[in-house]
Amino acid sequence: ETSKPLNFLEQIITQDLEAGRHDALVTRFPPEPNGYLHIGHAKSICLNFGLAERFGGRCNLRFDDTNPAKEDQEYVESIVRDVQWLGFDWDGDIRYASSYFEQFYEWALHLIREGKAYVCHLSAEQTKEYRGWATKPGKDSPHRDRSVEENLAEFEKMRAGEYDEGACVLRAKIDMASPNMNMRDPMLYRIRKQAHHQTGDKWCIYPTYDFAHGQEDAIEGITHSICTLEFADHRPLYEWFIENLPVPSTPKQYEFARLELNYTVTSKRKLKQLVDEGFVDGWDDPRMPTISGLRRRGVTPAAVRNFCDVIGVTKSGSTIDVATLEHAIRDDLNNVAPRAMCVLDPLLLTVVNFDQVAADGHAVEEGVATMQQPVHPNDESRGIRELPFTETLYIDRADFNEDSSLSRKKFKRLVAGEYVRLRGSYVIKAEDVIKNDAGDITEIKVSLVAATVGSNPPEGIRPRGVIHWVSASHNIDCEVRLYDRLFNDAAPDAGDKNFLDYINPESLSIVSGAKAEMSLHKAKAEEAYQFEREGYFCLDAKHSQEGSIVFNRTIGLKDTWAN
Ligand code: ATP
Ligand code: MG
Ligand code: MG
Repeated sequence: ETSKPLNFLEQIITQDLEAGRHDALVTRFPPEPNGYLHIGHAKSICLNFGLAERFGGRCNLRFDDTNPAKEDQEYVESIVRDVQWLGFDWDGDIRYASSYFEQFYEWALHLIREGKAYVCHLSAEQTKEYRGWATKPGKDSPHRDRSVEENLAEFEKMRAGEYDEGACVLRAKIDMASPNMNMRDPMLYRIRKQAHHQTGDKWCIYPTYDFAHGQEDAIEGITHSICTLEFADHRPLYEWFIENLPVPSTPKQYEFARLELNYTVTSKRKLKQLVDEGFVDGWDDPRMPTISGLRRRGVTPAAVRNFCDVIGVTKSGSTIDVATLEHAIRDDLNNVAPRAMCVLDPLLLTVVNFDQVAADGHAVEEGVATMQQPVHPNDESRGIRELPFTETLYIDRADFNEDSSLSRKKFKRLVAGEYVRLRGSYVIKAEDVIKNDAGDITEIKVSLVAATVGSNPPEGIRPRGVIHWVSASHNIDCEVRLYDRLFNDAAPDAGDKNFLDYINPESLSIVSGAKAEMSLHKAKAEEAYQFEREGYFCLDAKHSQEGSIVFNRTIGLKDTWAN
């Protein structure tokens, strides 16, 4: 990690600190509480909090809550939870842009008094027309040259609620011919007669993002205000406000490329549409690229942080392969997830010589012997699991085949008349295949090979492989939810494509009647297990009930989308 070259932001910060331009680095993560955070936000969180950690600085969590129309306390709470879950802690109290509204108002008055802002009564449509376009200079608003007194009086009327929404706005007086559209007298305040989740009915005028953001940074002493590339064109305006207002500090804006992932949409608006129109089971649906969805799916915070580290930070955009995220998820779960066995499609085995278990010296009580397996194969300190071993067992239907001509290489499982090892237990032989009238296999009679628990079978007996199993009498009945990518197109919202047309109809399949080993009674929501040979799974708190447990598959053991 120490040998990794510094990214462009780390270089800038290093130079600024070395030159003594700041005593300490101060960054912020500034979400608008108008939706749940997604994987793109995780990149910004890891970046801002990560820089503060690396340089011994501070990072604020600030809600950029300047538009009550789309914001909600539910979103505030989810964002706090998600940032904490990722393992970051902010400096001091949680901050709200709305707690600076009085100050912003004072600064708006300051601009008016300096002749740098005016109340404009053009409609939204007229404003657009007057603004012109890149190659055509704009036209001055007829209200641009009002006196300071008139502007102060008009702005006071706006604040007092004497105008309807949309009747007028406060604009900065900058340059209607600027090649940068953002400088053509941008809007500072608009009327919104809506209660705000933090300030209630106190205000009916609200500052725009542009008028608020840099001043929030200045109030908080932010040194490096890091945002995504689409704000690069707003930087001259950000700087104009800092220069033209008596702000307490001079933050600087820097831009980096936002995270784009293939097979994924990362826009709160589109994710909200998936929720509102019922395509998914809420913002935390395990298929959603939200932080809460990843969490419910069993993804670890370390996996998300490692992913953000791997993709790095750059000044130009590119799309990241979602397989990179999936790889980070598998990598971390392989290290941390306890092992367990769960049979998704149970096929009954009956042991015809169960007496052999006692004959081999294993304790058998009321028909139950106990086999042992490590919680984690690479970490003895995590202890062992006890697996009840009984006369009837389940294996997965896909792990048996009647066709003994199948090559040993291709089918490393149980075949009629041959041998296989049950993980952590006996080598068994398939003696007899029982079928119902319809010809479906309903049961396999098997025999145990004596003294093969933890020991090789005698010469001449060659098990084809090792398969997982559970006791048919001592197990947990459960439902398993298998997830796949939510979109079946690599770029579901590219160009004018409608992302809703590319929802993968097989993104969720529900398997009921799966049989899991008893140790999973301890399973807790969001804590992933490796179900041997099946993938990583975690308990779903939303759908599990007393006596009917639901497991989400976090991810398979291998990438099935490769090639
Ligand atoms: P969306 O476009 O999904 O609505 P947003 O940018 O409007 O997201 P904010 O709440 O304003 O959402 O974002 C908070 C911070 O997260 C901002 O600094 C923003 O730049 C950053 N951010 C948002 N999306 C991404 C992304 N895909 N990659 C990196 N950073 C992002
Ligand atoms: Mg937004
Ligand atoms: Mg934004």
